[in-house]
Amino acid sequence: MNNKIWLSSPHMGGSEKKFVDEAFDTNWVAPLGPNVDGFENDLCKFTGSGYAAALSSGTSAIHLALIMLGVQPGDEIICQSMTFAASANPIAYVGATPIFVDSEKDTWNICPDLLRECIKDRIKKGKKPKAIIPVHLYGMPAKMDEIVAISLEYEIPIIEDAAEALGSNINGKMMGTFGFFGVLSFNGNKIITTSGGGALISDSNEHICEARFLATQARDNANHYEHSVIGYNYRMSNICAGIGRGQMEVLQTRVDQRRANYDFYRESLAEIGEISFLQEPNGYYSNRWLTTIRVSTGEDTNIDKEDIYHALHAENIECRPLWKPMHLQPVFKNAPFYGSGFCDELFKTGLCLPSGSNLSSEDLEKVVHFIKAPFLKH
Ligand SMILES: *Cc1c(COP(=O)(O)O)cnc(C)c1O
Repeated sequence: MNNKIWLSSPHMGGSEKKFVDEAFDTNWVAPLGPNVDGFENDLCKFTGSGYAAALSSGTSAIHLALIMLGVQPGDEIICQSMTFAASANPIAYVGATPIFVDSEKDTWNICPDLLRECIKDRIKKGKKPKAIIPVHLYGMPAKMDEIVAISLEYEIPIIEDAAEALGSNINGKMMGTFGFFGVLSFNGNKIITTSGGGALISDSNEHICEARFLATQARDNANHYEHSVIGYNYRMSNICAGIGRGQMEVLQTRVDQRRANYDFYRESLAEIGEISFLQEPNGYYSNRWLTTIRVSTGEDTNIDKEDIYHALHAENIECRPLWKPMHLQPVFKNAPFYGSGFCDELFKTGLCLPSGSNLSSEDLEKVVHFIKAPFLKH
């Protein structure tokens, strides 16, 4: 079988090993150390955020954010429906109820109009939501100007899920820095990776210090082990942070490479009228973590996204449908949903193409060839 073309695989820059070796040589093989501090500094410098806590995952970052906002069992948290389950699962960890909101057409992210409608309705029903979780899907920024305005108007803090959007920005302001908290992920398939890991960023030093405290079992200041609140084991290892420091040196290059993938696909598939691409609104800059397409079934072809999915998998090319919205997931079937189901439509018609920064031009040509083939037969 020919070599597999992956959706998004790790892409080391070269100096990761140097940082990891340093950790071994100095015996900093622990969930603290110079790489953890260095990686947090790198993240602040790159994003412009005041403070950062390196954690074991993006999921744990969302969990800690909810805890620090004082979310209690029975509280309601608003979350974009069109996302990966990790955006919503921590809502269940704290015993709260997710309230899902539909996407809008320009960015495929949470619709500000529906968000406002949702907040008004929840307040009318007797409960003001405790937080809003917008997501920048596949790297495309959500409409943060409007979302932030709504957050300020109703005094509901934002936990900004920027797990897929490190390097994306709106008019130069980096994603992750619009909310009270920003969440980053360094899982194996993200734009940069620490093999597994995440970070919570914020301009509140107090909250980032509290996140570090909670993430290391909430040990009070005493010689013995004294605990007055429940803690977690969520800190990032100094080994993983070493990989992260190396990856930060090539982050902008990785963004450039992924954006070039998008440009290539868009140009090469322009002649296929049934395939459309998500474009950046004015001032929006996407890291193009994954290139996504929508396939509309035309008048004279009845090729749909399933056909393309199977055609690519038959050639050992990994691709996948867009995220299945949370309000359609069995596990969240009882959660309220606001919208008309635009995100259902995205799920039905959308596909993520191989988008790694390490794809060769031959790989990309091959993907395009096998996407086009069924259309050209007609
Ligand atoms: C990857 C991802 C997360 C979770 O990050 P982990 O580090 O895998 O826990 C959260 N939200 C979205 C949208 C993601 O894609």
